[in-house]
Amino acid sequence: MLAELQKIVQEVSASDNLDDALALIVNRVQGIMQVDAVSIYLAEQAEGKEEGKRELVLRATHGLNEKSIGRIRLAEGEGLVGQVAERAEPLNLDDAASHERFRYFPDSGEALFHSFLGVPIVNFGEVHGVLVVQQRTPRLFDEDHIAFLLTLAAQIGGAISLATVSQEVSQRTRATLRPRRDLQRIKGLPGSSGLAIGNAVVVCTLANLDTVPDRVPRSISDELAAFDRAIQASCEDMRRIGKSMREVLPSEEAALFDAYEMMLDGGPLIDDTIKAIKAGNWAQGAFRKTIQAHAKIFLELDDAYLRERAEDIKDLGRRVLMHLQEKKIALHDWPRQTILVGEDISPTQLAEVPADRLAGIVSVHGSGSSHVAILARAMQIPAVMGATDIPLNHIDGLEIVVDGYAGHIVASPGWALKREYGRLIKQERQQTRELSDLADKPAVTKDGVRINLLANTGLISDVTPCLQSGAEGIGLYRTEIPFQIRDRFPSEEEQYDIYHQVLASFAPRPVVIRSLDVGGDKPLDYFPINEDNPFLGWRGIRISLDHPELFLNQVRAMLKANHGLGNMRILLPMISSMHELQAAKKLIAQAHAELQAEDYRDPLPKIGVMIEVPSLIYLMDVLVKHVDFFSIGTNDLTQYLLAVDRNNERVASLYNALHPAVLHAILAVVESAKRHAKPVSVCGELAGDPLGALCLMGMGVHSLSMSAGSLLRVKKIIRSFSSEQSQDIVSSVLALEDGNAVRDRLREELEKAGLGGLIRPGK
Ligand code: PEP
Ligand code: MG
Repeated sequence: MLAELQKIVQEVSASDNLDDALALIVNRVQGIMQVDAVSIYLAEQAEGKEEGKRELVLRATHGLNEKSIGRIRLAEGEGLVGQVAERAEPLNLDDAASHERFRYFPDSGEALFHSFLGVPIVNFGEVHGVLVVQQRTPRLFDEDHIAFLLTLAAQIGGAISLATVSQEVSQRTRATLRPRRDLQRIKGLPGSSGLAIGNAVVVCTLANLDTVPDRVPRSISDELAAFDRAIQASCEDMRRIGKSMREVLPSEEAALFDAYEMMLDGGPLIDDTIKAIKAGNWAQGAFRKTIQAHAKIFLELDDAYLRERAEDIKDLGRRVLMHLQEKKIALHDWPRQTILVGEDISPTQLAEVPADRLAGIVSVHGSGSSHVAILARAMQIPAVMGATDIPLNHIDGLEIVVDGYAGHIVASPGWALKREYGRLIKQERQQTRELSDLADKPAVTKDGVRINLLANTGLISDVTPCLQSGAEGIGLYRTEIPFQIRDRFPSEEEQYDIYHQVLASFAPRPVVIRSLDVGGDKPLDYFPINEDNPFLGWRGIRISLDHPELFLNQVRAMLKANHGLGNMRILLPMISSMHELQAAKKLIAQAHAELQAEDYRDPLPKIGVMIEVPSLIYLMDVLVKHVDFFSIGTNDLTQYLLAVDRNNERVASLYNALHPAVLHAILAVVESAKRHAKPVSVCGELAGDPLGALCLMGMGVHSLSMSAGSLLRVKKIIRSFSSEQSQDIVSSVLALEDGNAVRDRLREELEKAGLGGLIRPGK
């Protein structure tokens, strides 16, 4: 059964048409279980009822009267199907009609059936529908049947939900009428607060066919020519690879490359693509469609060997796509209000959009604490992360609303919704103008306690916004960003230029430069690291210590850049043990000594560590003897304390930097640093969250570092509370047991102080 299960799941995932996907499921399940009827009910907005009220609608059946499709509608909790959805558990009956909840639909043909087994279809904790099998003979379904249906339902939830949105979006794209009704909201997670309305530009992961969107080309003949060039280049690759493979592979294996070459040398793959281009799709979209259609034919075959050939076709597809993607999007093709949409958006893809055209970001994967979200906040661009249901293939060019506060998007909004968002965007601009008056004012509490507000950055282009928003220095300069937007390690000279520019722009204000922190979710394309568990793997200081030549290079560039300015501090990321700190300090001393031999006379700068690996909380008493300052990295500290991958949208609801355990850990570090008179600041995203900032100030943290976009909002918070008030608030939240309760309590405090507009749209 496992193979059959996998096959259904694969086929459903490959389908972006909901009706086809559902028909396929009911037919396959009927064939496998040999039952008399299989039906799928999906939860939809109830007709004529207020928004959010759902009903279960029969959407596909094998065995019931097909005329009932779309007609049988059950309120939540109504009938047997309603009960399965309500309780989110299977229901197995040998005589359905005698159950108190049984509800009879005269035209359905259900009167013929006695036994009933219904299982919920769930995705991300939400019931999306119910899968039902029925049998004429009265009997209870056995354990195997229940297990099979449960396993299947658990796996198709995501695919059904994606196909639902895909179908609606593509119908909308084809419709020439003005949208009258808003498309259902596509849920995601808040990534960077703010609102935007613009046009989607889907950026595909290079050579990933599934993420290629349909797009209307500027010139069909240009697309045909590009396709032809890509085919020629791929044929050339196949000849070359085939030739070298023949030397190492048995001839029957190497023959695969001849087969590839033949497929590219005319035939259905080429003809179908050309037809689709002529019908008005760009080469990449047309080719994706052809490859998917051909792969599907193989996938549906019963022979396992032939099914595998689907992978060959996709493999070939990836190669042609790679050649098609060699051409970049021209400047004038970026819409004025570009909403960048992609599976995983990289800093390079962000950097490619002209800054004045980037209005919003939507990522299928990741969460609010992923690095793309952090970058979006630094650039003050609204972002929605983890939008797993977004139909990448069909959304390109559509008008989209990005709501970075609620963490959702609306594609092709109706006029009423657009007007409402337009109003909120205006209010937001007004609020930003009001806040900008605070730029020159000090960050002091109502009772006169001064808090240092610093900026986090990694982009040279961010320096001016940081200065304009009144940053008193840079509390975290992430050096990995200049490393990520290049195609090789930057040289010592290049690094010197970057660091010197930042240090000089802020001097005499302090700038904390952090040594390279790649790994985890910050990959370098030119230095691939493949690990099963990258956040617990080769990351940050671990790489620097294993590659002293890279670290020494970086430190030399930093030290030279500091020459004559003296405002730099060095920060070490991902330290988990004393020996790492000692080894890093030794290398820094070595770089310093080398420079001294070259006539460098500047003193060694202050060296600090990030408190982001929980082990350091318990080493504070030793650490204080060896470092000059601490910077608490709440992003990683939260992920490691709570064992929640900061980048994984599936567990994003568990990731909460306001979790009492995280707050107690921060407090312990702050108190310990204070006891030893060592400076401590917070540079994780918690510092830039108005709720977090209120908490941290109550704990006695007097230095907060955050994205430039958050500085003024946090300053507003600081100036609106006394330190005594904030201490009282912290004492009350530290007594709470749950992170969500902490969040609610802090929200209440902001609303009470009339500052609710800082954390949600509107005033
Ligand atoms: C942190 O972990 O809190 C931090 C500031 O570092 P990064 O987000 O770059 O990992
Ligand atoms: Mg970190």
